[in-house]
Amino acid sequence: MSNVLELVRADLRGFAGYKSARSESLQGDVWLNANESAWANPADSSGSSRRYPEPQPSRLRQTLAQLYQCRPEQLLLGRGSDEAIDLLVRVLCEPGRDAVLVTPPVFGMYAVSARLQNAVLVEVPLQDGPEGFVCDLAAVESRARQTRSKLVFLCSPSNPTGGLVPLDAIATLARQLRGQSLVVVDEAYAEFSSQASAVSLMTEHDNIAVLRTLSKAHALAAARVGVVIAEEALIAVLRACQAPYPLPTPCVELALAGLSAEALQQTGERVASIISERERMQLQLQQMSGVRSVYPSQGNYLLVRFDDAQAAFERLLAAGVVVRDQRGAPQLQDALRITIGLAEHNQRVLQALRQQEIAA
Ligand SMILES: *Cc1c(COP(=O)(O)O)cnc(C)c1O
Repeated sequence: MSNVLELVRADLRGFAGYKSARSESLQGDVWLNANESAWANPADSSGSSRRYPEPQPSRLRQTLAQLYQCRPEQLLLGRGSDEAIDLLVRVLCEPGRDAVLVTPPVFGMYAVSARLQNAVLVEVPLQDGPEGFVCDLAAVESRARQTRSKLVFLCSPSNPTGGLVPLDAIATLARQLRGQSLVVVDEAYAEFSSQASAVSLMTEHDNIAVLRTLSKAHALAAARVGVVIAEEALIAVLRACQAPYPLPTPCVELALAGLSAEALQQTGERVASIISERERMQLQLQQMSGVRSVYPSQGNYLLVRFDDAQAAFERLLAAGVVVRDQRGAPQLQDALRITIGLAEHNQRVLQALRQQEIAA
């Protein structure tokens, strides 16, 4: 048995899940086994939505495996990485007993899923230093041990702070926590960063899982397609615990079209322009009075501290620009997170904040 299966809830280890009509490998040309309609809906011109979809659409699975450089069996598709986060917490954590470790300020879904599962939430704050916010991996390791955390969520590049967790540090942590925790690396913004994916560490470390999504760089947030990449045996358990038909056929078709060679090339070009706009915005914002600091970012956003964040937020709103108010997050009482948009959007941000400079 793979070592990592010992992290799965004992009561779920032999669980087979729901056997849908689609999951049986029967052959035929008249399909009367799933109570589907024999007619297409008039709105469904291709007729592709008449039947239930494949639980794990094989073409998309293969395409994504190629994109993320893993084997198809190591990959589970779901409704965004949000579903993957939720599945991991449900499958690994026994309610009221097991713990989930997070590194705030960070993406809120890990804590939400932990709460819904009644898992213990362990927080190891990021440390704010000259290089930006960094993850205190020694503290993560010792807290994960003390609390017997089943899951350790690392976000790299981190949302909202923008920093990376170095690959060698992830490998070290995985080795230290082997048999104790699954180290989940959320790479929702990996396309915007200069670091290779933690997927490359998985041949040596079976307790690493990686989350990827089509929601950010691939511009398909509404299609709700995300994946978890992990050890094959763990993927099989997650799959048994997932809803029977997680991916709607129109979304699968859109995702496949959105990952064509031509679309991928355009995505690459757009990512490059976002990165250069990010660097330009960082320089411009840093020079503004009223801006305390702009954190270095490997994502498609910048975290910015202001002397008066409320005034900056209002200025931007008055100019029709909505940014993310981070003031409710720990250590970020004066910060806003600004997504990098089109050049003209970014220009509007700068203009609105310059008006503030003049007013001050
Ligand atoms: C946006 C984001 C996601 C993406 O979630 P989806 O459900 O795939 O849209 C995951 N993790 C982080 C850190 C994010 O910021």
